[in-house]
Amino acid sequence: MTAGTNIERCPSCGAPLIKKLGDALPPAGMDRCPGCYRSDGTPKSQQEIVAGMAAYLADALDLSPSVSLEIAAERVASLPAWRGRTR
Ligand SMILES: [Zn+2]
Repeated sequence: MTAGTNIERCPSCGAPLIKKLGDALPPAGMDRCPGCYRSDGTPKSQQEIVAGMAAYLADALDLSPSVSLEIAAERVASLPAWRGRTR
């Protein structure tokens, strides 16, 4: 980590968000990484985040779709944006 940077994690998908000190704050409501917004600018649902992460895990770790989906669902459910929600 370089001095002067502040690494946080996206509350929706857990991806590292690297903010340099002095950067302008994101617009209201834009507290997630770009990958957690649809092309129309609305935030993705939990289901969409899980599906995206599962596809990434299946590819990166060479897991079967059912195993990667299980891991992704568990990981996403523990993130601040979704914690305590049932879906
Ligand atoms: Zn994200």
